[in-house]
Amino acid sequence: MNKLFFIFVIFIQLSLAQNIKQCKERFDNYLNFKGSLNEIVIFENDAIHIKNSNGEKVFSVFSHEIPMLAEFFENNSYTQHENLLKLKGTKKYSKRQRDSLYIYIDDVKTLPKRNKTKPLQGYKIAIDPGHFGNDLYDAKIEQKYLYFPKSNLKNDSIKLFESELNYQTANILKKKLEDQGATVFLTREKANYTSFNTTYQTWLKTNKKNTLDSLLAQNKLTNSKYNYLINLNEYKFFWEFFRDYELQNRANKINHFNPHATIIIHYNVDEKNAPWQKPTTKNYTMCFIGGSFTESNLDKTESKIHFLRLLLTNQLNESEKLSDFTVQNFSKYLSIPMAKYIDADYLHNNALATKKPGVFSRNLLLCRIVNSPLVYGEALYQDNELELEKLTQNPINLSGINANKRLYEVADCYFNAVLHYLKTKR
Ligand SMILES: [Zn+2]
Repeated sequence: MNKLFFIFVIFIQLSLAQNIKQCKERFDNYLNFKGSLNEIVIFENDAIHIKNSNGEKVFSVFSHEIPMLAEFFENNSYTQHENLLKLKGTKKYSKRQRDSLYIYIDDVKTLPKRNKTKPLQGYKIAIDPGHFGNDLYDAKIEQKYLYFPKSNLKNDSIKLFESELNYQTANILKKKLEDQGATVFLTREKANYTSFNTTYQTWLKTNKKNTLDSLLAQNKLTNSKYNYLINLNEYKFFWEFFRDYELQNRANKINHFNPHATIIIHYNVDEKNAPWQKPTTKNYTMCFIGGSFTESNLDKTESKIHFLRLLLTNQLNESEKLSDFTVQNFSKYLSIPMAKYIDADYLHNNALATKKPGVFSRNLLLCRIVNSPLVYGEALYQDNELELEKLTQNPINLSGINANKRLYEVADCYFNAVLHYLKTKR
């Protein structure tokens, strides 16, 4: 190890060092869903142990290992995390073993130099515009659309595709961030594309069989599951396979890009207004970050690895900060109240309220797998009567992108939150 690298390692060790107390706080505040991990994750003075369902310790982290492991989880691929989990188990690493792990840390996210004219120069930001259904056919498969044949508000029928709103918001935001010098990555390239950069229909025709064949060959699918999936219609196949498979692809692409921050864009509906045939008077704004693991989540290796990363690194604290700025902007500039724990069933049934109003820990696939600070935004309820009126007004063109004014306002909220957040890191 050369001298300069050694000094650099010491520097990142000191600047990002995490300890057991901080891990315990993250565990209590974000990760332990209503106490369901109390018997599985054990905190001692100088160690954290993870047990299996038989009560046997399967993985241990000792206090002096935490800074190194946090670095390792933050700056490495999933495959490296998997190897570490297998090799380490409950062993205590010597100083030499700890130092030797640093050679695997390759793409460390350093902060770029300050640039006065372009404040985001050198920053990498990933944006995921949620969903892909951009016509009634695909949107019905995804169940992400609003269609009011005869609305109370207008004589015309109203059609809104969440995928399109997400994609347009992402594009406006991308342009604004790039104007400030950022390098921006979008998980899908067209409004009706999935993250495989084809439509779902094209993917079914050209990739479905190859994908299932290859999963079968790798023993990731059993024969019976393969035969079941290959014969499913496009609707069932979406819900039983493609949905999570495609989300995993989004996460892989983001992690490969290795961003300083990730913005996941969605628009919400009032769940109590199902099946959404009339407008609602309710409107709430909220943001999600990772966390809320249950005991059965930790049975799976994949989940255990992401749990460890979220426990040992400070990503959840950073995501909470970014999400707090975002939801405050939503509430202030869009004039929407922040959701409280009691305002939706999925909040009090599946999420934990963080200390920041409007920010909730929820074990959504992207919140779990994306390896960077993130905000998963749900700016507004599309089916709210006032929002419907705003979202169906004629598009404007403020920066070369034809889009609804409300989407420009939402993009501004994300933009100012990211700018604010990245400033706090210097
Ligand atoms: Zn959505």
